[in-house]
Amino acid sequence: MTSEAVDVGLWDVVVVGAGPAGATAAAHLASFGHTVLLLDKHRFPRDKVCGDGLIPDALKSLRDLGLYETIRREGHCVDKIVVLSPSGIRVEIDAQCVTLKRRQLDKLIVDEAVARGATFAAMLVHRIRQDADGSVYADTADPDTRIHARLAILATGADVTLLEGLSMLGRRAPSGIAARCYVRSPVQVDELVVSFDRSIAPGYAWIFPLGGDEYNVGCGVFFDGRKGKTVNLRDEFSTFTSKVTIARLLMDRAESIDALRGARIRSGLSGSSLHNGGSVISIGEAVGATYPFTGEGVGKAMETGSLAALQVHAALEQSSLDPLRRFPSLVDERLMPRYLGYKVAQRWISRPWLCDLIAARIRSSRSLQGLAAGIINEATDPRDIFTWRTLLPQWSRRSNLT
Ligand SMILES: Cc1cc2nc3c(=O)[nH]c(=O)nc-3n(C[C@H](O)[C@H](O)[C@H](O)COP(=O)(O)OP(=O)(O)OC[C@H]3O[C@@H](n4cnc5c(N)ncnc54)[C@H](O)[C@@H]3O)c2cc1C
Repeated sequence: MTSEAVDVGLWDVVVVGAGPAGATAAAHLASFGHTVLLLDKHRFPRDKVCGDGLIPDALKSLRDLGLYETIRREGHCVDKIVVLSPSGIRVEIDAQCVTLKRRQLDKLIVDEAVARGATFAAMLVHRIRQDADGSVYADTADPDTRIHARLAILATGADVTLLEGLSMLGRRAPSGIAARCYVRSPVQVDELVVSFDRSIAPGYAWIFPLGGDEYNVGCGVFFDGRKGKTVNLRDEFSTFTSKVTIARLLMDRAESIDALRGARIRSGLSGSSLHNGGSVISIGEAVGATYPFTGEGVGKAMETGSLAALQVHAALEQSSLDPLRRFPSLVDERLMPRYLGYKVAQRWISRPWLCDLIAARIRSSRSLQGLAAGIINEATDPRDIFTWRTLLPQWSRRSNLT
């Protein structure tokens, strides 16, 4: 799938980072007929520490790439999410999701980009330089490889070194951290299980079935709203797997496939600029595209990749940087209201007693269960649930939330 001999000519676009954000942008740009060089420091397939959960917005972006049926075939389809509140109140939410290891998912998207005409090469980029004429150079360890492009897209995930070099970084510190392991267990769990424990607030632990008898089990915490408390994910993971019954049962009989490994999360569309003012834009986790509260990032990375492809296509067609200049406001307009909603939800769950009250209300109200499903489908603004009106039934009755 790769073409290691990188042409020394002028590419239309160089995309650095071949995760879901970069590979999606590369696939769309190649379809528009542009010459696209997609670079990643790893060869694919490569592993990526993740929960491997694909919720409806990720599935929509995959459908746009023509990969939906393949993903459903290769992955494991799930139609329910079980949410456990801090005191163990169980809420069931209907949701069509798929789990698929990132090792497979990311290769499928990169392969799609290559099939559409992009060139992939495994190379670590040390620096992006912008020339006086506006074109860009990507410096790698090999001084003989000269990568020159009209425009560049940075999609380097939580590694923001290249953004820092271009003064696009506002905050180096991540917004949160999360860890996962793979296990095999004879105990059957058919739903995505999400547990909000008070020790990890605001954050959650999860069990995601991968099909067969394999599971992705992990936990993650957001720093915003944690009020200076330190976090040790190994301790949080032990708390989850010893205290929460379903996790204890699963893990008691589990055999390890891959040890617990952690990674940083950048969320809330904050901490980085989307445009350097010239020929470079940035997308995906590098610009904090992961949602607060849910930690869902694959779909959002792909969505920013698709939006970026449209703007880069327009810039190349018009030989003008104006479409890139409009990219940050476009993302702000389209996506920021949704991020604000998920940020509010994250603030609420930082108070476990509120999380319990909300879980109790959702459990007793069909319409609230529908709204909760809408949070997963992105049909509901989380602010419609995480509100005092939800907690106070007399107000809810007035607004038909029964
Ligand atoms: C433990 C954990 C669980 C998660 N669970 C979920 C989940 O279940 N569902 C979900 O939707 N999201 C989840 N997320 C979030 C999700 O993993 C990210 O949002 C997503 O990977 C972002 O995609 P991306 O393409 O922006 O970046 P990435 O997937 O991180 O890809 C970035 C790529 O850039 C490459 N790169 C970086 N720097 C360079 C360089 N200098 N030169 C060349 N290549 C470079 C990297 O090798 C990498 O391949 C989770 C995150 C964590 C940490």
